Amino acid sequence: MSEYRVWGSRDIKSVEAVTLDGLDSSSWKPPTSGNTSERSNAGFDVLRHLIENLSFTPATNKTAVKHRQTVEHFRADLLDWAEDNMRSFPWRDATDPYEVLVAEILLQKTAAEKVEPIYTELLATYPSLKDLAEADQDRLGNIIYSLGFQNQRSNALIKIGQELRDSGVPQDFQDLLELPYVGRYAANATLCFAYDEPRPIVDANVVRVYNRIFDKEFDYRGEDTWSFAAAVLPADDARRYNLAILDFAAVVCQPKVPVCDKCFFTDSCHYYQANQTG
Ligand code: SF4
Repeated sequence: MSEYRVWGSRDIKSVEAVTLDGLDSSSWKPPTSGNTSERSNAGFDVLRHLIENLSFTPATNKTAVKHRQTVEHFRADLLDWAEDNMRSFPWRDATDPYEVLVAEILLQKTAAEKVEPIYTELLATYPSLKDLAEADQDRLGNIIYSLGFQNQRSNALIKIGQELRDSGVPQDFQDLLELPYVGRYAANATLCFAYDEPRPIVDANVVRVYNRIFDKEFDYRGEDTWSFAAAVLPADDARRYNLAILDFAAVVCQPKVPVCDKCFFTDSCHYYQANQTG
């Protein structure tokens, strides 16, 4: 397999192997010329190619067929589950990139319920990037104090305000990554929730779900994890899928004791099946 990075890569050369069992990416050829933005978008082409071939690539063995069916089944059932079970938070209605980015900074390492009142107060006090750029750090720190890391977070927020007040929030993965307190998850979440790009999001909670269901040992920082998440993501419903898997991980497939008796996926979940006795 040639070296490649699916998301935001400026160095994609070729893709010669599958990233998900039973999916063939060998016929995909990335652009070898073009500007940075065009080459960056090559990552989307990988994803589209994999998804388009999800249903049509002939599987080479029974395991691949079963795996593919499990992926399709999980994706469809998760979206059905989301119809009645999605949680409601103020940032989920936001499409303003500034509001989305602020939410992603506050949500890092913090439960969504805790963030809710802080997010509302912060945006009421600093409704724009310009307001944030001119914020008094002590005042901002007091608003976000209960979330922890208030010095780092307030520093990052003010710097983001100062850097982006004239240009706005970038719609470019690499540019987002250059902002303080923005990693791969926050960059992809911003592009997905603010700009409707089909970007996967992967954190420890999402990985737990994939590991349990598909019998994987992914780490949320691993390239293979992100490639897997990209291939599972439905390109035409990425926003809803990403929100659904976050909620499913938080409400049903919980870390210590998963609520399997409320889960729609017991029939195909490897973790559940392996823990049945008798
Ligand atoms: S059956 Fe249990 S372990 Fe498996 S996905 Fe559902 S909640 Fe998680």
